[in-house]
Amino acid sequence: PRSMYRRMAAGEGAGEGAGEGAGEPAKDRIYSFRELDETMDRLALALHRRGIGPGRGVLVMLKNRAEFLMIQPAVGRIGSAAVSVSWRSTVPELCYLAEHSGAGALFFDAELASLIEEAAPRLKGIPRENIVAVGGDAPGFHTFEEVVARAGAGRVPDLSEGGSVVMYTSGTTGKPKGAVRTFSKDAMAATLAFIGETPSQVGDVHLVVLPLYHATAFAFASMNFVVGGSVVVLPEFRPELFLEAIERYRVASTAVVPTMLYRVLELGEERIRRYDLSSLKWVIVGGAPLSAQLAREAMQVLGDKLYQFYGATETGVVTVASPEDMRAAPGTIGHAVPGVEIRLIDEAGKDCGAGEVGELFARSPLLISGYHRDAKATEDATLQGFFSVGDLARRDAAGRYFIEGRKRDMIISGGVNVYPAEVEAALHEHPAVAEAAVVGVPDQEWGERVRAFVVRRAGASGDDASEEAIKAHCRTRLAGPKVPREVVFLDELPRNPTGKVLKRELVRWQEA
Ligand code: ATP
Repeated sequence: PRSMYRRMAAGEGAGEGAGEGAGEPAKDRIYSFRELDETMDRLALALHRRGIGPGRGVLVMLKNRAEFLMIQPAVGRIGSAAVSVSWRSTVPELCYLAEHSGAGALFFDAELASLIEEAAPRLKGIPRENIVAVGGDAPGFHTFEEVVARAGAGRVPDLSEGGSVVMYTSGTTGKPKGAVRTFSKDAMAATLAFIGETPSQVGDVHLVVLPLYHATAFAFASMNFVVGGSVVVLPEFRPELFLEAIERYRVASTAVVPTMLYRVLELGEERIRRYDLSSLKWVIVGGAPLSAQLAREAMQVLGDKLYQFYGATETGVVTVASPEDMRAAPGTIGHAVPGVEIRLIDEAGKDCGAGEVGELFARSPLLISGYHRDAKATEDATLQGFFSVGDLARRDAAGRYFIEGRKRDMIISGGVNVYPAEVEAALHEHPAVAEAAVVGVPDQEWGERVRAFVVRRAGASGDDASEEAIKAHCRTRLAGPKVPREVVFLDELPRNPTGKVLKRELVRWQEA
């Protein structure tokens, strides 16, 4: 096939600003499907000879690199588990994940050499010769290229039906849990059903810009291979680098989190229009709440190319919203992906009717098989084959869903359930508000009261953008207990690398 899979290395050294990408020509590393396949076979063989297989996993701690997309499937082929680790992890975190996952090998990013040197003696289950540097040399460790070159030719038995991927949740809500997803033919069918909801075509180019250690980026990249397309891996996100990559590689699709969309729009329409984005067919955003305002502004620039998904590491994609959905019902996360069943369960354990808020449970072939070595957490999240990650949602009469927040973030003020998403949506409607997040803080009289954190739009100040003005705005839209008692202005909201607001940090916020 002509289609190829590329890693864009050009951006690695490029600076931000006007001259970005203009100087040095691209030094891309391009792989054909045949090369990919051969490399994966060699890797699988090398790992097999090093004692990796069912029950003995492989840690992958890489920045966004093409090799990422080869290691995971190679590990799967020999019936082992590829365990994704954020490259931001510390030594103790890495040691915990190595021990907890039962890993017998580690692929690490050469840029992390000193951290790995420190960790290596403490990685009890992983002999030093099984610790492999990717993307460069690291003194004292084998490199990816060496391992592949020395493997020789040959095939290992295909055990891919038993292979799995373990994604540790980001831990924004506690200790990371290892979500285990096992390869299956049903999951492939479910993936095809999802693709049918998008304008994907054979041969499309997909741009990866989210971190590959996270389920979302990997899922969309693999999906594009299923349609026989190419994948371009961008080492990191910067708004102009991102637009430039779309132009240069004639990108058809990409997946982003809301913060990235926001940062692109911040460039302003005129700067965005300098890039030729005519190849784009769809941009899918998800992974964190997308405000109706941001969706509207994005649609002004992207037109009918903006899609949204809702899902979690544990559930895979659950809903998808088309541009029509988002126009018809601002704030919606869309309808269930074909093949996904959704139930909303109220506090009494009954299925909700239209308009009622309940905990969202999903069932589909994309569900994980459970949490690694945590039967209790698995059981707690499961209901008759359906799985919940604790999100609250409602459904309208047309079958469209709306996220109301996470169960553990729900605020109870004076006995009234306050869903942060509803308050945040009202805040976003204020013209001075760029970003908003709401938490509950202990209150003697009400049990909890609503505290809002707001990032103002550039240039917004004065009486129209004051705490009082924002509260007055909320009073015209929300019932009493839902109106924020306090509005705290911040320069930015604390977020994790995939764009989620760290509410735990906001709850702990103290006036300086
Ligand atoms: P942890 O469980 O450790 O906190 P995490 O929440 O970061 O990790 P992910 O699987 O990355 O785990 O995130 C899934 C969550 O992201 C969902 O449960 C939901 O709360 C939120 N989310 C995803 N897509 C959307 C969306 N379109 N709108 C609103 N929220 C979304």
